[in-house]
Amino acid sequence: MSSKPRAIRGMNDILPGVSGTWRYLESVVQEIVHSYGYSEIRLPLLEQTELFKRSIGEVTDIVEKEMYTFPDRNGESLTLRPEATAGMVRAGMTNGLFHNQKQKLWTSGPMFRYEKPQQGRYRQFYQFDVEAVGYDGPDVDAELIIMSARMWRRLGISKIALEINSLGAPEARSSYREALVEYFSGVKNQLDEDSIRRLGQNPLRILDSKNPDMQAIVDAAPVMLDYLDEESRDHFEGLKVLLDAAGVTYTVNPRLVRGLDYYSRTVFEWVTDALGSQGAVCSGGRYDGLVEKLGGRATPAIGWAMGIERLVALYEACGGESPATDADIYIAAVGEGTLERAFALAEELRDSIAGVRVESNLGGGSFKSQMKRADKSGAEFALILGEQELADGCIGIKPLRSTDEQESVALNELAVTLAQKLR
Ligand code: ATP
Ligand code: MG
Repeated sequence: MSSKPRAIRGMNDILPGVSGTWRYLESVVQEIVHSYGYSEIRLPLLEQTELFKRSIGEVTDIVEKEMYTFPDRNGESLTLRPEATAGMVRAGMTNGLFHNQKQKLWTSGPMFRYEKPQQGRYRQFYQFDVEAVGYDGPDVDAELIIMSARMWRRLGISKIALEINSLGAPEARSSYREALVEYFSGVKNQLDEDSIRRLGQNPLRILDSKNPDMQAIVDAAPVMLDYLDEESRDHFEGLKVLLDAAGVTYTVNPRLVRGLDYYSRTVFEWVTDALGSQGAVCSGGRYDGLVEKLGGRATPAIGWAMGIERLVALYEACGGESPATDADIYIAAVGEGTLERAFALAEELRDSIAGVRVESNLGGGSFKSQMKRADKSGAEFALILGEQELADGCIGIKPLRSTDEQESVALNELAVTLAQKLR
């Protein structure tokens, strides 16, 4: 390579300084889903292309134009996962996790979609994903939403609102589909190219159109809620009762159809207007037909996925701060035999003070240059170990962020003294 290597468009490096916030948010989200009894599952990034075609649906943005698909060296068509649900269901089936048992699972990691990169929309992006398989709800639907509401509360995220809808059972959806075809056919001359194509293949997706010129036509279309079958209606009412009781506010958005084919009944989205046009932060829905469609026994299921980039951006937009990553202690060692002792002390401190961040001076240098680095590290205290200190069995503690005097303590009292100071 003669010129400098470049990054792939839409694929970001998450740099130090930013990664601290990511790790903090991920740890809070993990802690919360664990507190509801969800267990982690780790999945491959690659699956057979066929899996995504069958589960997400052929006439969807993802399958039509967003997948990274390639033949491997044996000529088998593989795809980098564009979302996690399909792989999760595949893994459950492969490993017999759904046989006479229910599963509450979470996973997280990068997803890949060939989209037009812009703020909040990337080609490699990260999702945190939860799925409850084997539960027919609406209790589990409500609990999944209540769980996400807890995350916003815990993280101080306020600029977010919940929208819910029901897509009904497949039969009800097909009569709704007919009504849509009839309606959109009547206004066909006003439809854009994408919508005309969808009219024949997947008319529900017209409702998902992001074209502003289509909004008025979409707004006047028949709504699914008028076509709901009785069971789905009861299910939806049941969900609303539980959300009301839990104090989770929502609006019913009859236009919310979600971009994937496998959804049925409950769908929902947490949206924000604080991030420009990429407003969906956490989206989910019920997919009762998917396991059966992939060749398993009929199994109800529901899940949601949250975009981590958008979570990070929203957290910051709501005034959330990144956790401190500065060192607590910087150890400067100058003179014969001091480095060995300084290393040993650093290990002792890490053993005895939980979570303490100790930076040992690396690369030698004069006392002055080591102290400069200590200051730059952001450390609260510098420890100063010279030949004299070594001989006397003591060490200097110099406060770097206050005007307090430097003091000298015996080496065997160092850990206790520092633990007190850092409290
Ligand atoms: P959008 O309407 O923004 O395209 P979507 O309906 O395609 O979202 P899902 O497939 O439901 O999104 O994915 C779940 C979540 O993943 C979204 O709510 C969003 O936070 C995030 N997400 C989806 N696509 C991207 C992307 N290209 N870049 C960053 N985050 C994304
Ligand atoms: Mg999308």
